[in-house]
Amino acid sequence: MTDFLSFGTVFLDILFPRRCLLCSVFLSHPLSSSIKNQAIDNFLCVTCRQQLLISQESLDVIRLPDVDKVISGYPYAGLFEKIIPAWKYHKRHEFSPLVKVLVGLILSRQEVSELDLDLVIAVPLTPRALRTRGFNQAFFIASSSAAFLKTTLGSNLFIKAVETPQQASLNRRARTLNLSPDNFQVPRPEMIAGRNILLCDDVLTTGATLSAAAGALKSAGAVSVSALTLARVLR
Ligand SMILES: [Zn+2]
Repeated sequence: MTDFLSFGTVFLDILFPRRCLLCSVFLSHPLSSSIKNQAIDNFLCVTCRQQLLISQESLDVIRLPDVDKVISGYPYAGLFEKIIPAWKYHKRHEFSPLVKVLVGLILSRQEVSELDLDLVIAVPLTPRALRTRGFNQAFFIASSSAAFLKTTLGSNLFIKAVETPQQASLNRRARTLNLSPDNFQVPRPEMIAGRNILLCDDVLTTGATLSAAAGALKSAGAVSVSALTLARVLR
C-alpha cells in the first residue's frame, strides 16, 4: 500500500508540480506527508513551517481597553512580513487558503471555549477602502474563524462610516487619536446586544483600531468582545 501511495505521489508531483508559497521550493504531494500535517504541507516547505513554530513562542499576553481577550497568532516578522502585505495589498489570493489554515492553528491552541463566543465579526473597512482594495482581509479571517469555531459569522452588522487616514501611514500617537468608537456604526444593535463577540483583524499594531471597534460594539450592548489577529507587531 505504501509503495502504491509513493508511486502515486511521484506521479502527482510530476503532473501537478507545486511550490512553497514563500520560498518557491518544490513541495511533494500531500499523499506523501503525514495526515496530521497535511493542511500546512499543502502550502509551505519544511523550513518555512519551522519558522512558524519558532515565532509563536515570543508572543506574550497583552491587554487593550474594551477588549476582553487578545489572541494574536504570530509576531509580525519574518514570514508574516511577506505573507500579509502580499495577500492584503498585492492581491496574492493564493495566500487565502494558507491564512485559513493558520487561523485554525491559532484558534486550536487557545482556550476559546471558555469565551462562549456566539458571533464572529470583522473590523470593517470604509466602503471607499473596500472598493480600492477589492476585499476585506479582516472579513476573510472572520469567516475562517467562524467556520473553525462553528459559530455565526456576522456580515453587514458593523460599519466603518467615517473615513480616517490609513493607520499604517501614522505614527503611534497619531494612530490612537485617529480612531474612536464614533468612527464605527452598528446598524442593528439588537444583533449585537447580549452577544459574546470575536472581532477579527489581520495585524495588531497599537491596538487602537481594535479598542475603538470593541468600544462601539460594547456601546451597542455586546457582553464581551475578544479580538483575534493573525499577527502582532512587537515593540
Ligand atoms: Zn518554503
